Parts: sequence; structure tokens; C-alpha cells
Amino acid sequence: MAKHTVTLIPGDGIGPEITTAMRRVVEATGADIEWEIADAGEHVMAECGTPLPDYVLDSIRKTKVAIKGPVTTPVGTGFRSVNVALRKALDLYVNLRPAFSIPGTGARYDDIDIVIVRENTEDLYAGIEFEQGSAQAAELIDWVAAKGAGAIRPDSGISLKPISITASERIVRWAFEYAIANDRHKVTAVHKANILKYSDGLFLEMARHVAAEYEGRIEFEDRIVDMTCMGLVLYPEQFDVMVLPNLYGDIVSDLAAGLVGGLGMAPGANIGTGCAVFEPVHGSAPKYAGKDMANPTAEILTAVLMLQHLGEHEAAEKILAGVRQVLAEGTHVTYDIKRTNTGSTDGAVGTQAYADAIVATF
Ligand code: NAD
Repeated sequence: MAKHTVTLIPGDGIGPEITTAMRRVVEATGADIEWEIADAGEHVMAECGTPLPDYVLDSIRKTKVAIKGPVTTPVGTGFRSVNVALRKALDLYVNLRPAFSIPGTGARYDDIDIVIVRENTEDLYAGIEFEQGSAQAAELIDWVAAKGAGAIRPDSGISLKPISITASERIVRWAFEYAIANDRHKVTAVHKANILKYSDGLFLEMARHVAAEYEGRIEFEDRIVDMTCMGLVLYPEQFDVMVLPNLYGDIVSDLAAGLVGGLGMAPGANIGTGCAVFEPVHGSAPKYAGKDMANPTAEILTAVLMLQHLGEHEAAEKILAGVRQVLAEGTHVTYDIKRTNTGSTDGAVGTQAYADAIVATF
């Protein structure tokens, strides 16, 4: 069995508890992983003066693979977000968010198997914003008027939505390659090209261009984002692999997480050409920090994605089977799952006891 070195970022809030649970489960599979702990987040700011010290990026550049707990975004400190900074610094242009049903979660559906591929570097999340009342916003508003491009109210704040050929082409290509490598049959590109002709329109044009190369191998369709949301709720089985620009990808993946039992069940990965950073979709849930209550399933399923990425398929399958068994039995589950299934949190177990129950299935 190959030995792997993985950067581990425990994070803030419930992060340390759920990453401890994840680590215990991964180690119990026998996978040979050496963890290089490189902490980031709000709690390292006092000591390091930044929530993302250089040693974190140095470690990931060296190991190429990281798994993290959620990190709190400090409010009003001038730091935007550790997660956004990581994605930018390492050019992690793919955000992979699978949503699949596991019986026992109390979710509304039991047959969901959707993979969301979200573009991670541009769109309205590019961070190019002009504050209402600023000289730059006024200048931009005057420039737009002078070009005859439209009237923006003078008391507006503005966020730009850049969509490029480069980013659109590579994310759609990644989605098709993922579909092929994982025996998927269809890719759906999601957009609002009927209204946003030059941004989403370009994304759609590139999606069609790339799709043509895969004709006969992978089915392709495109859908408007609002109809997609309705379709996901009414007929989720119509979707297989979905590829979306950044903002729609963020929103639609939370919708998909809701179909399979909520944020506590949603794993994720940020992937670039050189490195990959695995993290659950949910945040640091500060109100549950230190209480041994949080559901570590999303973090544990995130480790499954990481193990698949490392080629440790046997360990990944073992964990997945253990999670399925524990959730199906329903006796050793955390408060959120207990409440969804029974309407009460009575009899729920803690974060670590849930991990113990998974390990006991191995
Ligand atoms: P959140 O995901 O932390 O919480 C949303 C709700 O879901 C809360 O009620 C929370 O208690 C619950 N919840 C989340 N994860 C859970 C789990 N594993 N088990 C049980 N319940 C769970 O979102 P938020 O409150 O908007 O954000 C809190 C902080 O997390 C913010 O600082 C935000 O910026 C940050 N955040 C970080 C990441 C990340 O690191 N990738 C992602 C999202 C939010």
C-alpha cells in the first residue's frame, strides 16, 4: 500500500472535532497516510497576523493534497476568506460537489446521484467590487453612461461578473473528463444565457464547443438556472453531471445538498492542475463548537473523495459502506439526523461516538 503525505487543516469552530473524527475513521481503514498539520483560520490570526499563514500554502504545494475543516471568515478585518484565498493561490479551478442519497438521513429523496462541477475562479465571486458612494463606483457609472451602455443609478454598488473563454472551456472539459472516468452518461451545462448574453452566453458557447468533442460518448444538454432549480426538486433523476459558473454552482449545490439530507451530508473538493484541497460544503457552525455534537459525515465523505483521488479505492469503499450501515441502522447518529428521523434529538450520539460506530463496521 502506498504511503501518502496529506496536509491537514483542522480549521475553526467544529473543524477540529470533525477532522479528528475523519482522521480516526481514515486511519482505521489501514490507509497509510502521514498527516502534516498546517492550521489556518480565525484562531491563528492572533499568533500569525493572518488567517492563512505562508506555511499552509507551502505545505500544500509540497504534499499536493490537503483536507480541511471549515474556517470562519473573520468579519471586518480586511481578510476576505481563507477558502477564496486558497483557491486563488493554488488555482483550484474546479469545485466538485457530489450529492448522493444515503438511506437513513431522513432526506426527501432516496435515489439522488448528482455530481456538481462548479467553476471556482471567476464570475460574481471574482471579488471585483465597487462600493456605493466610492469615487471608483462614480467613475464607472459615468463611464458606462458615456459609452451609451446603460444607465446605472448613481447610488449603486457594483460587482462585476467576468466569464472567460479560458475558464469556461477548462471547467466544461473537466466535467466531461470526469463523466468519462466515472462512467457517467450526461453533462448538463447550467446558465442564464437568455439574459446574460455576453457572460453566461460565452459560458454556454464554450460548453457547446467542448461538448461537440465528446458527441457519441457523453450526452450533453443545457438548461437555464431557474428551470434547473425547479427541475431538481421535481425530477432530480434527470440530472447526472452538472457544470455551472461559480455563483449558480454555489447555490445549486446547496439545493442538491438539501435533497440528500442537508449540509451535514455534503462533501466537496477544490481541484487544480497541481494540487487538490478537500473540504465539506458546510461552514464552522460556531454554535456547536467544542460540544461534540456536530455531524462529521460531510467531512468523512470528503475524506472518501480524497482517498479516491489518492487511488485508495478500497479504503474509500470501506468508509462509504460503514457510513451507509451506521445511517441505515439509525441508532448511533448525531443530533441533526436523529431530529430529522424522529422529530427529537433524544438518543443522539456525539461526533466521536458516531465515528466509533463507523470504525466498528470495518
Ligand atoms: P454553517 O454551514 O457553519 O452553518 C449553517 C447551519 O448548519 C447552522 O445551523 C449550523 O449549525 C449547521 N451545520 C453546519 N454544519 C453542520 C454539521 N456538520 N453538523 C451539524 N450542523 C451543522 O454556515 P454559516 O453559519 O453561514 O457560517 C459559519 C462560518 O463558516 C462563517 O464564518 C462562514 O464564513 C464559514 N464558512 C466556511 C466554509 C469553509 O470553510 N469552507 C464554508 C461555509 C461557511
